[in-house]
Formats: sequence, structure tokens, C-alpha cells
Amino acid sequence: MKQVQEYFGSMVFNDKVMKDKLSSDVYKSLKKTIQEGKELDITVANTVAQAMKDWAIENGATHYTHWFQPMTGVTAEKHDSFINPEDGGAVIMEFKGKELVKGEPDASSFPSGGLRATCEARGYTAWDPTSYAFIKDKVLCIPTAFCSYTGEALDKKTPLLRSMQALNKSAKRVLKLFGKDVKTVKTTVGPEQEYFLVDESLYNKRKDLIYTGRTLFGAMAPKGQELEDHYFGVIKPRVQAFMNDLNEELWKLGIYVKTEHNEVAPAQHELAPVFTTTNIAADHNQITMEIMQKVARRNGLVCLLHEKPFKGVNGSGKHNNWSMSTDKGVNLLEPGETPSENAQFLLFLMAVIKAVDEYQDLLRVSVASAGNDFRLGANEAPPAIISIFLGSELQDVLDSIENDTPLKEGGKSLLRIGADVLPPLPKDSTDRNRTSPFAFTGNKFEFRALGSSDSISCANIMLNTAVAEELDGFAEVLEKAKDFNLELHELIKKTIKEHKRIIFNGNGYDESWKDEAKARGLLNLKTTPEALPYYLDKKNVRLFTTHGIYNENEINARYIIAQEHYAKVVNIEALTCLDMVNKDYLPALSKYSKALVDTLVAKKELGLNVDYEYSVSKIISDGIYKIFDIKTKLEESLKEAQKEEGLEEKSMAYMEKVLPKMADLREAVDSLESYVDASYWPVPSYGDLLFGVK
Ligand code: ADP
Ligand code: MG
Repeated sequence: MKQVQEYFGSMVFNDKVMKDKLSSDVYKSLKKTIQEGKELDITVANTVAQAMKDWAIENGATHYTHWFQPMTGVTAEKHDSFINPEDGGAVIMEFKGKELVKGEPDASSFPSGGLRATCEARGYTAWDPTSYAFIKDKVLCIPTAFCSYTGEALDKKTPLLRSMQALNKSAKRVLKLFGKDVKTVKTTVGPEQEYFLVDESLYNKRKDLIYTGRTLFGAMAPKGQELEDHYFGVIKPRVQAFMNDLNEELWKLGIYVKTEHNEVAPAQHELAPVFTTTNIAADHNQITMEIMQKVARRNGLVCLLHEKPFKGVNGSGKHNNWSMSTDKGVNLLEPGETPSENAQFLLFLMAVIKAVDEYQDLLRVSVASAGNDFRLGANEAPPAIISIFLGSELQDVLDSIENDTPLKEGGKSLLRIGADVLPPLPKDSTDRNRTSPFAFTGNKFEFRALGSSDSISCANIMLNTAVAEELDGFAEVLEKAKDFNLELHELIKKTIKEHKRIIFNGNGYDESWKDEAKARGLLNLKTTPEALPYYLDKKNVRLFTTHGIYNENEINARYIIAQEHYAKVVNIEALTCLDMVNKDYLPALSKYSKALVDTLVAKKELGLNVDYEYSVSKIISDGIYKIFDIKTKLEESLKEAQKEEGLEEKSMAYMEKVLPKMADLREAVDSLESYVDASYWPVPSYGDLLFGVK
């Protein structure tokens, strides 16, 4: 058996392969492109393409594709083989520099939110050389950005790269003030991915899972997660086999998969990679989600990435661990040991605090989706209110600065920024606040509100840009400072005073937090239709346009797509609900009630007691009537929602009128499940789905 270190990254055209396959001149100029974003010369591109093709063919590839991330949230690829006809019916394998650096896919069938008229359907893809090419299913995949012909971003990668550029610029500007001249500052992310596994044969019997990724019906099984025996529990053999298979595939693709464990809900699991540069982490997370689903099928399982596949047990999220790091690998959210390092840390910390407070709406928008609405605010996931957890040690430091009081512990004198050393801050992950959507965990922040199926790009675009904005604001002030340490101290103090409302170290699941958050003026945007309009808020448009992340058209496009997507998702769910009720549940209930009534009549003739048959027949018969009635109402609400013309009105109608009827319908169906002979019930039960994999 091959050892991991032998095959790790074997399907990646990584630095080692580049060094191996390219002349040192070509390697150097490609490296420059990768590290400094310099444009790639076409002769260099030709040589790189040739080497890439040879390497790919050696490793079994026959095709190449520009692999990109349109605004659907999933990835896209169009395969072209390397073959080129030769005289005499032969072929040669070719791949040119221009095919490597640029592609021109027809963009007309991707969501564009009005960015592109169909008459100018062409879009183009451009290689992102900062993310390595890789081979997946015999296809050489080249990570690319996807733009319209006029250069507007039609994807999730382009704005993410732009936001990293913005942060790079601002962070370097601030570091200069501390006498540090670094080449680059990049943001880093380690996304923890939660998911469910169910048996494939059971999955195939549930239209709701097939069409919507979540169960729209299903009474809770006798057992759920109440015994708390699943979290970190022993991993079942079939699940372990899946995990082993998955790890191997991801390691081949150079993805640093590190942690695997059972999560809180039965059938729920987590995978976490070691963190890396944000755009690579985003690419890797997309690949991870894709490979998880493929490997699951190979193992007779289905991987559910939906945020809330089952009612009554926890849903799935994606924890976005985020920090900033210099090219020398210095983590800017690491408190450090000297007074100057501490001062610098506090300033970067302030930038994050101010950013999260001022752009809490954007962070909320970045995690908004129909699926995540079932998670946020429920007592299992962070609330829809965005707040920051700092922990008591760091809170004490901020209190001391804000109030000019000595640190609670030990210190007799006041803390002077730039002159004093901070007390040690724990990096202990055990007692950290799990109820906070945005928690400081010693040397990074963990944004916990992302949905499990989401691309991480959007959240990081918001975060990077907002922090860049605050760093610029700080630099503006401090560049003029006469007494740097004094003004730094004042700036930090002022920031704490003005933005401490966003800091909440208490229990985010507590009901009282909602009232307190309201009193503090924090937003509580419970649903996607309520959150999305904040995209277009003046201050947010200004933020994006000044930092060159989105122009107004690009923001508008994202807003339109998100609104439409929400309405489409709920529409599909409602149609699936109706389909299941009409074709599965009502006929099954009707059949079972006939069986009961037949038995009842026969028994009665013999003079036997028919209490059971009678009472259950009555419950089912009443239930059928109720289901029929609610179903008719759902059909009406659905029609109303479908008719709505306005974007906002439409998604609001789905949220306010359609979803509640779906919930009523579910309740009516689920309440009958325990009365019906299991062999009549048309779909696998929660018990089978949640506990079926051994
Ligand atoms: P958990 O949250 O489950 O307790 P950890 O806190 O150990 O797990 O790590 C979670 C993730 O945070 C991992 O993917 C890890 O690589 C990542 N991480 C650690 N340091 C950083 C950093 N500086 N920037 C971004 N992510 C980081
Ligand atoms: Mg975590």
C-alpha cells in the first residue's frame, strides 16, 4: 500500500511538479506571476501549457477544462480533449498557451443577474495561477475566473481575489506604520465542513431528498440526539470506509484534510482541512463538496450537504476560520509577545471588530439562503444576530483600555499600548463560546453562520473587504500621528467605545439576548428575504465600489440572483411537497384506511370488538381530510407567489405564504405516521434514514 506522503498531491500540478517539468527561467517567471500577480507572457504560457499537458497525459488525463465557479454556487466545467486530427486518421495531443490562459465559454445559460444580454452571450474564463491545476476524473482542471465580455465578474472567484487584493493593500499600509515592510498579506481560511450520510437505497425512495436535499416530511424517530452519544462517538465501519476513501481522493488532490469525526446529530459528520490561503481554501472546499458526494455514491451512501436535512435534529454548517498572514507566515491575529507586537495585534483586532459591527448586515447577507434560514436562530446554530465573542481575558484587556483602569488580574498600573505586554491569552478551544456566530479563538476568528452547502467565497469577500476598509481608515489617522503610540492608544480606545455593542460574550441561544441585541441596535435579520435588500444599502455599495470589488452592476446582479434563487428553491420544495402528498401520502393513507375498514366490517360481522380499527380509521380519515384541505391552500398560496412580479415581493410571498403552509402540511402528514402500518407508508422513516447506516 502506498503511503500518504507518496501520493499526496499526486494529481496536482504543484510547485514541485513545476520545478521538475519547467526550465528554471520559465519556472521563475511563472512563480513571479503566482506570487506577485504579474501577467504571464504568452511564450511562457505556451511552455507551461505544454508541460502541463504532458504531465496530465502521463497521469491518465485525456481532456482539459477551465474549472470555474459561476454564481450558481457550484462549479462548472466544459471538457475539451487534447486531440488534434493529423493526416492519415491519426491524432496528436495538443494544448496551447492561449488555451491555458483564456477560454470563451458560452455564458448565456449561467445566472448573470442582468449583467449580460443574451445577444452578447460570450463570457471568458481566465486562469488563476495562484491556484494549482489538478486532474479530476481524467480531466486536467484549470482553476479560472469567469467574466462577461465587458470584464464584469460572473463568478465567485473574481470578487474573492479582488477582496484579497484590497486587504493586501490596506494591511500592508498599516504594517508600514509598525515599521514592517512585507511583500504580501493574504487572508487564510480553514473551513470545517459538516454533512450527513444516508443509505443510497433509502435516499432513492425519497423524492424530497432527491429534489430538495432535505426531508419535507417525516415524524421524528423514537431516538434523536438527546443522549449526546453521537458527537465524537465511535465511527461506524461503513462511514469509516467512506472517510478513508474520501481522504485518499482529497489527499491526491493536494487538499490538507486533517480532522474527521461524528457530529451531534445521528448520521452527521464533520471534515476539516488545515487552513490555507483563502482563494485556495475556497477552491478546495468546492472540490471537497463534490468529491464527498461522488465517494459517498461509490460506497452506497448519499452525502447530504443541505443545512437542515432533518427536522428535530441539528442542521449542518460550515465554520469559516479566518485570519490574515504575511508572506513570511506571520499571523496578524496572533497576539505576540512584545509590546509592539501586542499593539499591532490590537489594531488588527479593532479592524475586525469595527468591520463586523459596521457591516453586520453584509455578513448576514453572505450566509443567507433558504436552507440556512432553518438553521440560523434555531437553538443549535448561531443566532441570525451577528455578534463577536472575545473571551474574558481579551475582554478584560479591552475594558482596561476603554476605561483607563488597571487590568483585573495582577496589574497595578494601567495598560499602555505600545509599551506594555498583554497578559497571556488562552488558545484553549474547550471552553470557547459555541453559541457565537463570530468567535475569537486565540489567533483567528471563527465565523460560524455559514451554511454547509454554501461556497465560502461570499462570506470571505465581505469579511476581507470590510476589514480592508477599516484598516484604511486607521491608516488614514495614524499616518498623520505625531506621537504614534499615544494616538494608537486613543484610536483603539475610541474604536472599543464606538463598537463594543457588537461584542457579546454571553449565551447567544438565550432568549434574553434577542432583547438585549435589539436594545444595542444590532440587526436581527431572521430570514433571507429580510436580509438580502441590505446588499444594496448605500454604505455597502460604497464599500464595494471604493475597494474595486464590485461595480454597481455587479452588486445588483448578485442581489437579483440571490432573490431569484431563494424563490426558486422554495418553489421546488412546494412542488415536491404537493407531488408527494398527491401521489404518495394521500393514496397510501387511502389504501390503508380501506384495509382497516375492510377488517372492521369483517370483524363486526363476527361480533368482534372493533375499537382499534374504528378509532384509527377515524384518525386517518380525519387526517386525510385535513391534509387535503391544507394541500389545497398550499396550491393557492403557491399560485399567488408564482404570480408576484417584483423580486422582493416574490421571495417575501414564498417566505410568508408558502413556507408556513408547507409546514402545516408536513405536520398533518407526520401526525399520522405512527398510526399507519409501516408497510403502507410510502417513504423510509426518520429512524431508517438516521440510523440505517451501520
Ligand atoms: P475546532 O473549531 O473544531 O475546535 P480548530 O480550532 O482546531 O477546530 O481548527 C479549526 C480550523 O481552523 C482548522 O481548519 C484549522 O486549520 C483552522 N485554522 C487554524 N489556524 C488558522 C489561521 N491562522 N487562519 C485560518 N484558519 C486557521
Ligand atoms: Mg470550529
